[in-house]
Amino acid sequence: MTREIFHYIDGKKFTGTSERFADVYNPAIGEVEGKVALANAADVRVAVESAKAALPGWSSTPPAKRAQVLFRFRDLLMKNMDKLAELLSREHGKTLADAKGSVTRGLEVVEFACGIAHLLKGEFSESVANGVDVHSTRQPVGVCAGITPFNFPAMVPMWMFPMAIACGNTFILKPSERDPSCGIRLVELMSEAGLPDGVLNAVNGDKEAVDALLTDPDVSAISFVGSTPIGRYIYATGCANGKRVQALCGAKNHMVIMPDADMDQVVDAAMGAAYGSAGERCMAISVAVAVGDETADRFIEKLAPRVRSLKVGPYNDPETEMGPVITRQSKEKILGLIDSGIEQGAELVVDGREVTLQGYENGFFVGGCLFDKVTAEMDIYQQEIFGPVLNVVRTKSYDDAVTMINENAFGNGTAIFTRDGDTARDFSKNISVGMVGVNVPIPVPVAYHSFGGWKDSLFGDHSVHGMEGVRFYTKLKTVTSRWPSGIRQGAAFNFVSGSDD
Ligand code: NAD
Repeated sequence: MTREIFHYIDGKKFTGTSERFADVYNPAIGEVEGKVALANAADVRVAVESAKAALPGWSSTPPAKRAQVLFRFRDLLMKNMDKLAELLSREHGKTLADAKGSVTRGLEVVEFACGIAHLLKGEFSESVANGVDVHSTRQPVGVCAGITPFNFPAMVPMWMFPMAIACGNTFILKPSERDPSCGIRLVELMSEAGLPDGVLNAVNGDKEAVDALLTDPDVSAISFVGSTPIGRYIYATGCANGKRVQALCGAKNHMVIMPDADMDQVVDAAMGAAYGSAGERCMAISVAVAVGDETADRFIEKLAPRVRSLKVGPYNDPETEMGPVITRQSKEKILGLIDSGIEQGAELVVDGREVTLQGYENGFFVGGCLFDKVTAEMDIYQQEIFGPVLNVVRTKSYDDAVTMINENAFGNGTAIFTRDGDTARDFSKNISVGMVGVNVPIPVPVAYHSFGGWKDSLFGDHSVHGMEGVRFYTKLKTVTSRWPSGIRQGAAFNFVSGSDD
């Protein structure tokens, strides 16, 4: 029997009026297991009205009291970890261990947001002029919305709503329609944690729901995480409608392998970073840039057998290292790109296209693939494959590797593997990428730092979580006051400053 997944507005389930639904699959068996309601503009408006009505009460609730809800939510996340991972993996396909890891990364943002009273402490300058003091505070921006991708159905929503709500905003989550259940469950858990109705709502939907959020005059800020073409549209449309927008987008992450690197460490790192979660991570390594032919040969010699023996399977088999990709269309796109790579002259060292698993014949599985001799003009280099495919590019020098990465349109994450401190320092300083790893393949910053890329990987001025999250979800206000009010200075027609006598 297929489940029906609805919206959550004002502290309860909301079925909406659209009567449009999308299929939700279990990608391991390739069958529809649920139907998710797709909101129309009227349904979205109900969510916005609810968030708007809850705003005055919530924004004037003291930060420490707001944090108490988040402390309780954190406990509920811990208690519900297994169930959340099951809900997530069943619709996404990633292994249960990987799902738990991603919930934990979201939980760490909740822990950071629990310190909101401290984070919102303003600045104060005494006696900037005779009897004059200045203080700065950060105030909520209002009703915020978050539009999230399929690949991290728990972590990415938790990059957003705990921070927004801690800062005193109300929030509407629009999870991916491909795996919506975990996001909806998180919103329910916030209610169970004692969040007043309307402070956090969720609407499911597609472009129609997103457009309604982007153009609603009562929505003040939009956080988006997803692909670059959609992110570009979200940023342009949201800004044109007067909203503050942060849009975190697609990626092509390079890992530079220097001749002096510890090759066993490199191969372990590449396996997890390229094939973990079937390559469906915005921080996945999709290009290994080997400096020198000898480095490339050693890398491939050690890596290829590991890729061939990758254990592909369903999320709930403890032996599984890599699950299926999200949809049949996604599998077809990946296979099409692999074909283009062969046609355009890359060497397919490991061919994972034909995977059949007994009992899972219709699942959306793609085995690990490894290309050698990839060049910058090829489609497999230019496009985000978002699947278990690693491209090896050979460069003559370290400088060529840096030039290649800096010329790439994306700038989300990158890593260098070397034992040389000078090279590592030069790379960290001169690479045009937002998140850099030195002997760390997936340098996702911890919650109290901020996550965000450069170039076509982020549109807007703010990354997510950490202090950047606080800045995005608040407006700065600076108050200049004179006490005692009786001090008279006479009328000033020039622009005075504190250093005037
Ligand atoms: P997507 O862009 O297809 O969808 C993201 C969200 O946008 C979903 O909620 C979807 O419903 C909505 N959407 C889709 N089409 C739309 C349209 N035409 N108009 C308005 N809204 C629309 O992305 P995805 O396939 O769900 O996720 C994978 C992508 O997300 C990859 O490109 C990946 O790199 C990226 N991603 C980036 C980060 C990051 O932090 N930079 C993190 C995770 C994922």
